[in-house]
Amino acid sequence: MGEAMDFDILFLGESGSKHLFKKHHDASEGGQLLSSSAPSGYTGSSLGLLEPAIQGEFLNATIHIGVSACLLGENVRYDGQVKDCPVVRDVLARHAVLIPVCPETGAGMPVPREPVDLFGELSAPRMIGVESGRDWTDEITAWIEATVARLVADGLDGFVLKARSPSCGVESAALYPKLGDSPLRVDGLLAMVLRRDHPELPVVEDEDLVDDEALSTFLGRARAYRRQRLG
Ligand code: SF4
Repeated sequence: MGEAMDFDILFLGESGSKHLFKKHHDASEGGQLLSSSAPSGYTGSSLGLLEPAIQGEFLNATIHIGVSACLLGENVRYDGQVKDCPVVRDVLARHAVLIPVCPETGAGMPVPREPVDLFGELSAPRMIGVESGRDWTDEITAWIEATVARLVADGLDGFVLKARSPSCGVESAALYPKLGDSPLRVDGLLAMVLRRDHPELPVVEDEDLVDDEALSTFLGRARAYRRQRLG
């Protein structure tokens, strides 16, 4: 039998309002969140796990960090597996309000789904399903641009992105100039929009947060960005 746990979850509403609900998690169910006290039909789009002792600190909102949702264990990956990042889920979550974002499911891709890759020009890559050849570029780019604009308007101080993903990777996504070419390493579509439109925003990959010093450096950059943002 796996361990059952209750988590407090922070939802950010469309207007930036914050709402706490409980979720029940059972590790024997593959890490699924089994139930939520969030009202049915609630439209808040963001979650963050909170420890009771520091809920007050979070609700007074220190830094707000966007996170690739799969790093928090959300079931959004193309292969249907749950692969969370303990440093982000357990450690970063003590210092920041975490805002999970998954561009692929956000744009309507199912779980599980065929993998996608980036093809074509470095300046304008296309995101294509590797089996079907379906081109997702326009839908996912529109979703990313709208979501980033909303998060920035609500107040965003940094982003932790999943390495090597064609959506989230930072200079680590594979781009194939032509079919059969060796891949170049580039930004995924979300990283590209973040770094193009908000070049000062601190952005790292999960694999950059290798130790306490790396995490502390990232937190310092995010706090400095927040101070500058708020004047
Ligand atoms: S890497 Fe990004 S697009 Fe892929 S599952 Fe995680 S959050 Fe979603």
